[in-house]
Amino acid sequence: MSRLLYLTIIAISMWTCQSGPKVYNSYLEYPVYEGQDLGLNYSAEKSIFKLWSPAAEEVRLRLYDVALGGNAIGEENLKLGVDGVWETTIAGDQKGKYYAFQVKTGGEWGDEVPDPDVKAVGTNGRRGMIVDMAATNPEGWEQDQRPPLAGFNDIIIYELHVRDLSMDPNSGIKNKGKFLGLAELGTKTGDGLSTGLDHIKELGVTHIHLLPSYDFMSVDETKLEENKYNWGYDPQNYNTPEGSYSTDPADGAVRIREFKQLVKTLHDNGLRVVLDVVYNHTGATETSNFNQLVPGYYYRQDEAGGFSNASACGNETASDRPMMRKFMIESVKHWAEEYHLDGFRFDLMGIHDIETMNAITSALDQIDPTIFVYGEGWTAGASPLADEQKAIKANTMKLDRVAAFSDDIRDGIKGHVFTHDAKAFVSGLAGLEESVKFGVVASTQHPQVDYDSVNYSKAPWAKSPLQTVTYVSCHDNHTLWDRLAISCPEENEAERIKMHKLSGAIVLTSQGVSFLHAGVEMMRTKGGEENSYESPDAINQIDWARKGQYPDVLTYFQGLIQLRKQHPAFRMTSTEMVQKHLQFLPIEQDNLIAYTISGNANGDDWKNILVVYNGNAAYQTVDIPEGSWKIVLDGERMSEEGLGTIDAKELTVPGRTAIVLAQ
Ligand code: CA
Repeated sequence: MSRLLYLTIIAISMWTCQSGPKVYNSYLEYPVYEGQDLGLNYSAEKSIFKLWSPAAEEVRLRLYDVALGGNAIGEENLKLGVDGVWETTIAGDQKGKYYAFQVKTGGEWGDEVPDPDVKAVGTNGRRGMIVDMAATNPEGWEQDQRPPLAGFNDIIIYELHVRDLSMDPNSGIKNKGKFLGLAELGTKTGDGLSTGLDHIKELGVTHIHLLPSYDFMSVDETKLEENKYNWGYDPQNYNTPEGSYSTDPADGAVRIREFKQLVKTLHDNGLRVVLDVVYNHTGATETSNFNQLVPGYYYRQDEAGGFSNASACGNETASDRPMMRKFMIESVKHWAEEYHLDGFRFDLMGIHDIETMNAITSALDQIDPTIFVYGEGWTAGASPLADEQKAIKANTMKLDRVAAFSDDIRDGIKGHVFTHDAKAFVSGLAGLEESVKFGVVASTQHPQVDYDSVNYSKAPWAKSPLQTVTYVSCHDNHTLWDRLAISCPEENEAERIKMHKLSGAIVLTSQGVSFLHAGVEMMRTKGGEENSYESPDAINQIDWARKGQYPDVLTYFQGLIQLRKQHPAFRMTSTEMVQKHLQFLPIEQDNLIAYTISGNANGDDWKNILVVYNGNAAYQTVDIPEGSWKIVLDGERMSEEGLGTIDAKELTVPGRTAIVLAQ
């Protein structure tokens, strides 16, 4: 044997004996791990850590006794096991310690970050924390129950940012800007008007939709005294609450306990809780947990190999890759099981693929089929994902019990969202009638809607009314009141109040799931600011003085909500039911819509209901079916017993007013 051959054999045998990392040519080759135990598995006897990172060359874990800074008190090298999962076990009770992972790829170590599955973190989410989840439960948590919900058609959502409810100095709420502030009862303004949770209860909504309340990046949790504000659409750690909303961001158990306390208090007060989830992108891109631990995998790439950007936030995640899909499913399950959440609102849902969204609702069905899922059926930019796979509005019929926001009715009522001075139905612009009618039937197939004339959708997109979220305003863009001021500067306040009330009446009498932006019931203003995502509290907070300034508007919205809750005819459960019972009346005038809901629809105790929306400034007269009608809603208020009766062939409807009659 020549010396060269001998050395070659030695080299080959060394190479074959080495259990180094496998080289992958594409993310498609990455093994999929099916286990449910990624991340920390804590017990008082030991802590097991598992991290999926198939292409890593080395993985290490460092332990700390503080949330930020300090020196590591321990370091472990993880061993590669099956399916790309690295693992280590630390004996003894490690509760209270902090940890972070570091992965070596291409010969270089990445940043120290918590794993994507981390369930508890310290200040600014830089390190995971070893927490005994069972010890984070508030008193009575085992008895916590979701308030009853017979069907998604019963849902009336109130979209709220945690800080907005309490920051006003006049709110009377002690825990300002905190989860616990939203859980305070008996709070009042200086004038004795109820605020906070009491106010929401009096309004009568069924669900509170919280803007992002998972751990996000933009608020420095070491400087809470600065009271920095952000909506929170910049996710950092998906599976644990935001630290700045807790009373102690350093102790990872505190934010968990306080968020659970909030959920329990809302449940005890008859309200369900929805979390706004933003899996479509991460706040950081190169430095995110995802990218530091499994470079590139969790994101879609553009043609040049860089981060594609359908979120307009610098990256977009890849729900179509198995481990991202699995991550999303398990994350949603975690919030539903550990935190007893009742619904999820998916930000830019169009970035996710249909298969993933259906897998999520299927997983939630196993927990509780009354957990409601809805989302924005659009993207904020081009995505490499094929249109037919996207969970966009046009594909809603392929989604299992997932609802989408109707921008059709939103802009039909008040005007195109990006053309600030555009008028629409309530401000007297003709041509939006079919868009509003399309919203009345909750984006379903109805023989009397002329789909060619609908503003955006030229075909029905909802399988049933339960797939449409009906709204006119939300945290994005101008508040309804500001929009009406900008688009109707020539009108006085009294006229704009009429438009505002008419908008609310259209939303709350239309089929589908109703959705209200917090404060719309007291004509919330952000001083004309359109994108207040990082504006100060002074702009964003609910100004409780307005409750005293516009008591008639609040009473009107309360009446609309009661009307909807007491009358299932406004909450029909199927397309066929809407087709059978809801008939539009022939109308010649512009900006006027009239329809009947007849035959004790959906078990309603009213045999016939007549609804008229007049978006014109002047009164209009419509022919109505004969008989004696009870007036239950006019431009001023709702009365179940009736505000009077009408027995005529014609009904005169005042300008900018909704009228509801009943038999
Ligand atoms: Ca944070």
